[in-house]
This record gives sequence, C-alpha cells and structure tokens, in this order.
Amino acid sequence: MAIRDGDPREEAEGAMRSLLVHGGVDGDERTGAVSVPIYQTSTYRQDGIGGMRGYEYSRTGNPTREALEKLMAELEGGTAGFAFASGLAAITAVLMLLGSGDKVLLSHNVYGGTFRLLDRVFPGLGIGYELVDASDLDLLEASFSPAVKALVLESPTNPLMEITDIAAASAIARRHGALSIVDNTFMTPYLQRPLRLGADIVVHSGTKFLGGHSDLIAGLAVVASPQLAERLKFIQNATGGILQPFDSWLLIRGIKTLSVRMDRHVENARLVARRLEDHPGVARVYYPGLPGAAGADVNARQARSGGAVLSFALAEGYDVRAFSRAVKMIVFGESLGGVESILTHPATMTHASVPEEIRLRLGITDGLLRLSVGIEDSDDILRDLEAAFAASRAGA
Ligand SMILES: *Cc1c(COP(=O)(O)O)cnc(C)c1O
Repeated sequence: MAIRDGDPREEAEGAMRSLLVHGGVDGDERTGAVSVPIYQTSTYRQDGIGGMRGYEYSRTGNPTREALEKLMAELEGGTAGFAFASGLAAITAVLMLLGSGDKVLLSHNVYGGTFRLLDRVFPGLGIGYELVDASDLDLLEASFSPAVKALVLESPTNPLMEITDIAAASAIARRHGALSIVDNTFMTPYLQRPLRLGADIVVHSGTKFLGGHSDLIAGLAVVASPQLAERLKFIQNATGGILQPFDSWLLIRGIKTLSVRMDRHVENARLVARRLEDHPGVARVYYPGLPGAAGADVNARQARSGGAVLSFALAEGYDVRAFSRAVKMIVFGESLGGVESILTHPATMTHASVPEEIRLRLGITDGLLRLSVGIEDSDDILRDLEAAFAASRAGA
C-alpha cells in the first residue's frame, strides 16, 4: 500500500488511517487469515544445498518481524524498517553506524536512556558527544565540526517539550556531512513524519504509543536511503538485538488502532493542558499544543498536533511527593503512551542518570512532573489531578 504524496500533515490525516490498518503485510496470502501469522520459529527447512526458500534463520529474517518492519517503513515513508528488542536496542544499532573518532551532537533534553548510552557506553568505543539546544538553529549550526557525523534529536524533547525545526536541523546536518537521526516516539508517524521533513533515520520506542497498551518493550528504526538500509540490515543481523515474532505481532496489533487512540489521547491532552494552565497549583505548563507555547508555530508546521505528553511544574506550596502518592486512577510510574494516563517524576525516574547540574540547568527541577495523557474519560483524569492538587497543598 502506498501513501499519497503531498503536505506531510495532509497525508498523515487521511491515507495514514487506512495504512495503519492495512499497511505492511495485510493478513496471510495462503489462507486468507486477516491477522498476520506468528512464525514462532528459529530456523527454516532448506531443500538441500542452495535450496533456501527465502528464510534461513530468524535473527536474519522472520516473516512476522518483516511484516512489522515493512509496515513501519510505509508509515514513516522510508525505504526499510528494522525491529529491535527495545527502543534503546534500536538506537544502539543506529549509533553503530558511527566509528571511533566520530562525534554525535545530541539535543539537550532527550530521553535519559539515550543520554546514558552516549555518556557512558559509546565513549568507550571512541565515540564522543556534545549536548546542544537544537531548537536554536544558529547555535546548532555553530556546533558542527568535521568530527560530527550525526545529529540526534527529539521534537518535542523529553520532558520539557521543546520543539526543533526538523527540516531546518536536518538540512544543517546534511550540509555538514552528518546523519540526522530523529526519535519520533512522542509523536508517532500518525502525527509527524521526520523522513518526509528531510531526516535520514527515524527511531522509536515501540513500547510507547505505537504498542499503546503498556504490555510490550520494542524498538524500531526506519531509514530513508537504500545505502543506510543495507548497512543497518547488516548491523541488525550482526549484533542481534531483534524483536521476537510474538512481540512483533503484538506491535502490529497495537499499530492498527493508533489513529483512534491518538485522536483521543490528543483531545484529552489539550483539555488537561488548558486546565493546568489556569491552575493555581501550577507554575508552568510545557505543552507545544497550547497556543503561544514556545515552539508552537514550528510544531504546527511539521506536526498535526502537540501530541499527548505534557509536563508541568508545581507552584510553590505544593509538595511533589504528596502529589505523586495522591493520584488514584492515573498510574504513577515510568513510561508513557499507554491507554492509561501515566504520571512520572523525571528528576528521580526517567532522568535520574542525567547529572543534577545538567538537569537543573535544563529546567528538570524537583517540582516537575510529566503526564502522558491516556484515553480515559477526561473528567475522570481532571478529577484525579484535582484531588492530587488538594492533597499536596501545604497544610492539607
Ligand atoms: C522510552 C523511550 C526510549 C527507550 O525505549 P525503550 O523501549 O524503553 O528501550 C527512547 N526514546 C524515547 C523518547 C522514549 O520515550
């Protein structure tokens, strides 16, 4: 199935909804089964030497995983997709495209695990990094040096929801001979398609909105060019961090309902953001879907909405620990993108591996909370938050 060409937001709206349901491998050709079969096999019978029937070993290729990989390539508008055992396994495989002596420019409030990988693992392989505020294009331009071979960014960033102009940043990276790699986990291809904006590689934690039900850990990468496809295919097979057949099937199942889930997620997020904006218990709301928010204009150009994750800083006089204990329906925990609303305390959870000095410089303060707005009834979400404000207020 091909997607209509044109404006990146327009095509995301119409054809995308059908592609989510029927893209990749649509059911089973042989039996007519509507659901892609789960090929729970490690190896394949060959008809003697040289008699391979298309598959040899499931690390190298598996039909269920391939159905997912093809679907993701179509959704992101790339030439090939690759499925991994986790988002970080996908990001690791992509960074393996680099070599000793290379340097990465890293957008400065990315997912804590991505930071940890570049801060603690890759330097041992001779690959360095530098943090940059990629939303400032002049600063970004000035940060390139000949050693920089990749730009890694998220838009919106995690957890402060800063917006980077993906088209402009990718063009700058290309001019300097560097790959642009965009983590599109928060938006999904339903809301934003970085390859269509000029990025070279998109990565995802499939654990979040794509899977959508908090029951799976998975990662994905989609590349724009056939050359990158060939190199990443080699790395995927050589390093082996692949997604299992059942988990591939579960992720395909989740992706089919992405449009209806995401529409509700976003609708609820808008309502919650507006309520928090006026709330006496809130010092600041970070949500690019609010009119007038930092980066809202750029975001509106490159994405269909502000997504469904927002952060807010509690006002003075409200206790963040009491707030975290007071929510009832809302899950307090790590992760995001599930059907259930999930509240996270970045400073002690997702971003605990970021040194305190950097954290505070970025604005990831102790009073900051991140909320992944679920698809429950919006009144119930607002009521739960209201009760938590009341319970966390000084003297409560
Ligand atoms: C969760 C997350 C990751 C890591 O994915 P895992 O599936 O947990 O390995 C990477 N990037 C972002 C933006 C995430 O939210």
